[in-house]
Amino acid sequence: MIENELPGISASEVGEELFQRVFRKHSSIMLLIDPENGIIIDANRAAARFYGYTEEALRAMKLSDINVLAKDEIYAEMQLALNERRNYFIFRHRLAGGEERTVEVHSSAIETREGILLFSIVFDVTDRKQAEASLRLASMVYQNSSEAMVVTTTDDVIMAVNPAFTKVTGYAAEEAIGRHANLVRSWRTDLDTRKGIRRTVEETGTWTGEVWVKRKDGEEILCRVTINTVLDDDGKINRLVCQFSDITHEKESDELIWRQANFDALTGLSNRSMFQDRLDQALKKAQRDGTSVALLVLDVDGFKEVNDTLGHGIGDKLLQAAAQRLLHCVRDSDTVARVGGDEFAIIVGDVTDVHNVERVVHAVLQSLAEPFRIDVEEVYVSASMGITFFPDDGVDGAVLLKNADQAMYAAKGKGRNRFRFFTPAMQEAAQARKRIIADLRVALAENQFCLHYQPIVDLRTGAIRKAEALVRWEHPEHGMVSPAAFIRIAEETGMIVELGEWVFRAASRQAAAWRNALHPDFQVSVNVSPVQFQSSGIDHDAWLAHLQHLQIRGGNVVVEITEGLLMDARPEITNQLLRFRDNGMQVALDDFGTGYSSLSYLKKFDIDYIKIDQAFVRNLEPGSDDLALCEAMIVMAHKLGLKVIAEGVETDAQRQLLAERGCDYAQGYLFSKPVPAAQFEALLRD
Ligand code: C2E
Ligand code: MG
Ligand code: MG
Repeated sequence: MIENELPGISASEVGEELFQRVFRKHSSIMLLIDPENGIIIDANRAAARFYGYTEEALRAMKLSDINVLAKDEIYAEMQLALNERRNYFIFRHRLAGGEERTVEVHSSAIETREGILLFSIVFDVTDRKQAEASLRLASMVYQNSSEAMVVTTTDDVIMAVNPAFTKVTGYAAEEAIGRHANLVRSWRTDLDTRKGIRRTVEETGTWTGEVWVKRKDGEEILCRVTINTVLDDDGKINRLVCQFSDITHEKESDELIWRQANFDALTGLSNRSMFQDRLDQALKKAQRDGTSVALLVLDVDGFKEVNDTLGHGIGDKLLQAAAQRLLHCVRDSDTVARVGGDEFAIIVGDVTDVHNVERVVHAVLQSLAEPFRIDVEEVYVSASMGITFFPDDGVDGAVLLKNADQAMYAAKGKGRNRFRFFTPAMQEAAQARKRIIADLRVALAENQFCLHYQPIVDLRTGAIRKAEALVRWEHPEHGMVSPAAFIRIAEETGMIVELGEWVFRAASRQAAAWRNALHPDFQVSVNVSPVQFQSSGIDHDAWLAHLQHLQIRGGNVVVEITEGLLMDARPEITNQLLRFRDNGMQVALDDFGTGYSSLSYLKKFDIDYIKIDQAFVRNLEPGSDDLALCEAMIVMAHKLGLKVIAEGVETDAQRQLLAERGCDYAQGYLFSKPVPAAQFEALLRD
């Protein structure tokens, strides 16, 4: 265009004309400045629009009116441009409204008719500078983030990674960049999951979740991952930015907490809370499928004895070994839980045939009855088991558990190593039991008890110098209740302690009376429950003080204990037993022959009498096994210096057989039933 010179006008005139046009109309901000004084000689339309002044107004202004720098600084900068030492500057320019913008200024000196001027083109770069700053910030975050980051193309080619990526995966940047993202993918996160993630990212631009990552060393780690997208100018996904951190350990500790909350630390079996969840699930499933669920509750017989005699260490190991055996008796889908100290529960689901449950029951009983070898000890236990069914016996987990418990107690009541199915009768028994507990509380408070006395006859002379005190409960509604109906419950609830204390006091008062009225050596024997020896035990000092207060000797009172107590080797128990002797009281071993007594126990505890249990006396006949057993017990006791009392003597034949075998004393309906004290005295008078 410039080559086309117009006639009559010089080339330079054409150039100036053209420059003027360009200057006026150009969309860039342009200024012409006099470097001598900084006056704005000219400003274009774009400048007027940008600065917010009219072109005329601008032409009357100085650079210092728009540049935030001080005058001398502006002057120095202009010199740089004039000398062509620099023609690119970054300034802050103030607009008419007072707002400041960051501008990039390109300045150069030009020769004009008016002399040397500075020609400046101004670009508003405020937004770009801000973007640059945030980019720098992003890059800083990217480099220093503790979270691994990887940038990929949409084809999953790795474009960039940060140092944390190297730390987490083990791949250096140069090993990863340019490779496919499969480099760090673990196939533990399956293809379908991956496709789902991709779809979400494409649809929403982001995804967060947990994904398995494969490290360079082959280890697979669980990572929490966030994927974001970077779009191109057309709004299409250009890059994927994926951030992730290793949460394997976090998961491990989560898992640990979960395990602690749901599993028994000792045996590793489900605990009570997990058991309840599993039971609920099994019931729901059975309801859906129309099948049945069996709930088995079992208690280890003799566990307490193991704990007491062999120590808790062995007890713990026994429970662990028992748990393993139980697991072998069931299918993987069944649940075995430890629901109490030595109480286990088994959920057998999908029951279609009761025989399958019976098979499990027998397998469990059999496996627990096998001897356990623990350290150097050979330990023998067994199990008592209660069984109940959903939906026949109940549809609610809590009800079923109660049923199974009741059935288990019923099994235990029948002796060891047994099982019982739940029946409604058990339900009634359980309710009766509840009533008895409530009534017993009242009975203790209102002292509804009394003592009956049964004579103990000297078989050689026929004299009666001893009596056994037997407690009776005068129930306001039910009349006289036999101890068989409530002693056990009193023991289980601990009420026996208070009751036993009362029995001792009342019986020794009677002993004092009879010592004076009947014979100075008259003895009253008192049944003392093993439970009374537990926890704080018997207050021997108080007992002795009571005897002294009554002005009788310990010798006027005999304590009847049971064999179970002798099995308990703890010094607390042994010492209490020996205190009786120290206080002058004699000790009789009740129900002898039904438990586990061994001769060594009898010697060790200074027992004075054994009472042969009624079970042996009941069927005494010449030539019977029971007679042989009684004879053996008598001989053995005498060898150890003990006297023998036979219980439950009902016939003269029994009396005679026992007397012939050298039995010392006898007690039974033949002589008298237990009777009130007044009646007892009348009996002796006759
Ligand atoms: P035990 O100590 O073995 O008492 C003997 C039981 O046999 C008594 O039952 C007595 O009535 C019964 N008996 C006595 N002679 C005969 C007989 O010839 N034939 C039959 N079939 N039975 C006979 P009772 O009074 O019902 O007491 C039952 C058990 O309750 C006692 O057995 C004892 O273990 C316990 N007991 C009774 N009173 C107390 C007490 O004050 N404290 C504690 N802890 N237990 C007690
Ligand atoms: Mg007794
Ligand atoms: Mg007895």
